[in-house]
Amino acid sequence: MGRGYICKCEKCGYTLNASLGSGMIYPQLIKDEIENMKKGHYGEQGRKFFEEHPDGSISCERVVSRCTKCGNLEPVYDLNLMIPDHEIEQKRQTLMDGINRGDPKFTSLPEDRVKSIIEIKRCVLYEKYDHHCSKCGSKAEIIDEFIKELRQEKIICPECGGKIKEYRFLCWD
Ligand SMILES: [Zn+2]
Ligand SMILES: [Zn+2]
Repeated sequence: MGRGYICKCEKCGYTLNASLGSGMIYPQLIKDEIENMKKGHYGEQGRKFFEEHPDGSISCERVVSRCTKCGNLEPVYDLNLMIPDHEIEQKRQTLMDGINRGDPKFTSLPEDRVKSIIEIKRCVLYEKYDHHCSKCGSKAEIIDEFIKELRQEKIICPECGGKIKEYRFLCWD
């Protein structure tokens, strides 16, 4: 379930449509974004990552980034670069080896159990994606606690420097 916050600058009317979290389209979305990243749409870091980690993945949580230079606010995907969990990979390998050897300890396991171990995919963070401002190209940082900052009136309007406030809240899936 995602949450949407329509935020507005009281002074100049600048509006930011901040959707946060992940929706129901998650698996397909990740697939699409991985393809985009492989093609280099997200720059060299992402392209190289998949060259070195073909089994890698990314997270697609909706977040808001803030440019360290011009203060531009952007709703983006967090795009953390993930690699398969080593422990799970090892378990899978042990199981596959055991089955291939014909070891009864493994071959006697129920089929659905085997399937669940083979298909499980758990990833751990490998590296954070370096976000860049789409306006000026400078480094942008994800605002980890957007809602908290919003309520503390710490989100500053990139247009006029005024305070941005929550204007409307909606849920989406
Ligand atoms: Zn403003
Ligand atoms: Zn910028």
